[in-house]
Amino acid sequence: MFRDINIYEKKCLICNNKEIYKFKICRDCYDNLSFKEGYHYDFKYLDELYIVLNYNKFLKSEIWDYKYREKTYLYEFFGEILISEIFKYRLNKKYDFITFIPLSTLTLKERGYNQSRLMAEYICDNTLMEFRDILYKNRNNKRQANLSRKERYENVKDIFVANSSLKDKSILVVDDVITTGYTLDFAAKALKEKGAKKVAAIVAAKN
Ligand SMILES: [Zn+2]
Repeated sequence: MFRDINIYEKKCLICNNKEIYKFKICRDCYDNLSFKEGYHYDFKYLDELYIVLNYNKFLKSEIWDYKYREKTYLYEFFGEILISEIFKYRLNKKYDFITFIPLSTLTLKERGYNQSRLMAEYICDNTLMEFRDILYKNRNNKRQANLSRKERYENVKDIFVANSSLKDKSILVVDDVITTGYTLDFAAKALKEKGAKKVAAIVAAKN
């Protein structure tokens, strides 16, 4: 994995400015962030949802770089953002462990890393929450990005499977961006099918 790339350099992860302000980025970059207030989804399986940022132009470009142009070290920036939300709502006390939304085998092979997994591992390293790799996809699916709402639903419907018993567990699922929420809801369904008592999701941004 690429998790140690930035370890020797203390600079803004986005623009290389030497003055760090928060979340391992500088004040100028921080001022480009737009914090999310208020959102509503109708989930069938997911019990709670935490979204930190709005998907503005600035963030969109950073997330794009993170996912598709191999700026893998940005997991530290997104991880820091999610950690502040976790402590704010004491999620580290309320959930037994953290897991992440998996990629299909094919996508993982093409991209070489799972951006949500890197964030989840970073969060666990820095909050002492337990990390578990328990979800997988039972088929290769398309990227959600260019699909209609209905196609997105079909694309992730019942795609997730959890690989162990989760009886009475409370689980926090990490992902980078939420759009329709179908992905997170089907992930929650898979976890509950294995006995999970409560499932929450935490994401960096709402598209
Ligand atoms: Zn910066």
